[in-house]
Amino acid sequence: MPDIIVIGSGVIGLSAALTLQQAGYSVRILTRDRPQSTTSMAAGALWSATDMEGELRRWAAVSLKRFLPLTEVPGSGVTLQRFREVYAEPTPTPWYHNQIPFCERIPKQDLPRGMRDGYLIDVPIVAPPLYLDYLQNQFESASGVIETRMARSLPEVADEAPVIVNCSGVGARQLAADESVYPIRGQTMLVAAPQIREGFMYSGDIIHIFPRADGVLLGGIKKAHDWDQTIDPAIAAAFLEKCARVEPSLAEPEILRQFSGLRPGRHEVRLEVEALSSGGHVIHNYGHAAIGYTLSWGCAEDVLALARDLL
Ligand SMILES: Cc1cc2nc3c(=O)[nH]c(=O)nc-3n(C[C@H](O)[C@H](O)[C@H](O)COP(=O)(O)OP(=O)(O)OC[C@H]3O[C@@H](n4cnc5c(N)ncnc54)[C@H](O)[C@@H]3O)c2cc1C
Repeated sequence: MPDIIVIGSGVIGLSAALTLQQAGYSVRILTRDRPQSTTSMAAGALWSATDMEGELRRWAAVSLKRFLPLTEVPGSGVTLQRFREVYAEPTPTPWYHNQIPFCERIPKQDLPRGMRDGYLIDVPIVAPPLYLDYLQNQFESASGVIETRMARSLPEVADEAPVIVNCSGVGARQLAADESVYPIRGQTMLVAAPQIREGFMYSGDIIHIFPRADGVLLGGIKKAHDWDQTIDPAIAAAFLEKCARVEPSLAEPEILRQFSGLRPGRHEVRLEVEALSSGGHVIHNYGHAAIGYTLSWGCAEDVLALARDLL
């Protein structure tokens, strides 16, 4: 019997499983989908921490400390990228300005029309097709087992290990019977555009141009309560048109791949222990919405602290 079963192999499950494994616990992952078929595969996936307070800020800061050294590791899929992040309203200097290698306010005359503030920042960005493989390989090469199976209930899995870590993303709506979990549909497109050297992000109207290790990721949409995961050509055409307004060379790009995914929406991340009435303990770790990568390592560290108390 393993010490711990982690349910889910998205970025949240893999980061938690690796952190627990590296602390010396025997860990098995139980997952309905392999990492490459999760929502985490569809992500941008930028370390993006604007507007964060409290726990979120703490988790994001821990993750940043883990991601920055990974930008030096070949094959990790994590790179350091310069971004232009712009805002429709005056915005205070980011809280993390002295924790990243570069942060500078954009002079007013250099802002796109209609924008009132913005920063040039160097931040880590993840290419999920590379990074999820990298995490999976690390876990498996240290004897971690990934079992592909649907968990029908938490008590059922609790028979198989003393501690369960529930990283089931939007699947927690059923698995943890938590009706506050809802999908936030997303869709992205990876294109070949080596001429794009600088990233661009405007979250107001969701114009995302993300250069990363495997191409340039364009997006996107956020549609709450929509379970549809098909790639909609009309959605793609709409965000492509917005991206081309910022970077005209993106008007007719060479499309490498398209993604869709359901962000696990919730009013807040659920990271806490539940003692099951049937016996055993679950550490819930889900509901990371649009910032799962940004919070991944910080939440994994808290899972480890909770597991230490239980085991
Ligand atoms: C288009 C898009 C862009 C994004 N961009 C960013 C970004 O730039 N920066 C950022 O930080 N975040 C970003 N995100 C958000 C990020 O992708 C999510 O927060 C993150 O992927 C959530 O990870 P997760 O592991 O909780 O969920 P998932 O990746 O959905 O993984 C859930 C896992 O649980 C498993 N599972 C579910 N139910 C069961 C069950 N009953 N039994 C067994 N297994 C089960 C699934 O099979 C899967 O393996 C983006 C998301 C999208 C869609």
